[in-house]
Amino acid sequence: MESNTLYQFSIFNAIMSGIGDHGPTIGGLAKRGDHGLGTFRQMDGEMVMIAGEIYQITADEGVIKKGDDAILPFAQVTRFCPLNEREIGPLDAKLLRTAVQDNHPASNNLFISIRIDGFFEEISTHIVRKQEYSGQPGAELIKKMKVTLLRDVSGTAFGFLSPQHAGFSSPGIHMHFISSDRQAGGHVIDFKMIQGTLSSCVISNVQLELPTSSAFNDTEYGAASTVLKP
Ligand SMILES: [Zn+2]
Repeated sequence: MESNTLYQFSIFNAIMSGIGDHGPTIGGLAKRGDHGLGTFRQMDGEMVMIAGEIYQITADEGVIKKGDDAILPFAQVTRFCPLNEREIGPLDAKLLRTAVQDNHPASNNLFISIRIDGFFEEISTHIVRKQEYSGQPGAELIKKMKVTLLRDVSGTAFGFLSPQHAGFSSPGIHMHFISSDRQAGGHVIDFKMIQGTLSSCVISNVQLELPTSSAFNDTEYGAASTVLKP
């Protein structure tokens, strides 16, 4: 794939509806990009891809490196080539959107890929726990997610700012984090970074691949996306 194109498999509403059995493999996604996020088969934890390395952050077994045949029922990846890269700090979750949009004026209705490398005073994350049965909906999974608060940790967060019109994604900022020692991470809820680097790029080219499974096609999706706010 060309640099700074977004490849997405499945839609956010499908994940919220528990469609988590089929999807591309790690090996397949590696051909589409080198940075990204997603979840594993049966929603078993959070996926983050940094510089071509894919990590599975699980609620109960920590961070795992999976083989190339592991399946991801939802993923967003890009070959990340930042147009803007600058030292920044302090930075927190509330200021991030403005900081990113300042980098890319006239991009309100486009996607923006975001990478943050830095030292975090605090970063809170959640980690989804594996489905107890096939099709278990997101509303049930949210209730039993693991929430963690990491303090004084260096690491990398990667994700996307999706525009409001993009209901197939998760409108707003959605990022996943992994610590520099690759021991902890998850879906970013909130953070306070003391000092670091903010890199970003506008994305106007999106390739959306939809599941062809009967589970996907037998589900009725509403017009609006249920947004899982980071
Ligand atoms: Zn997430």
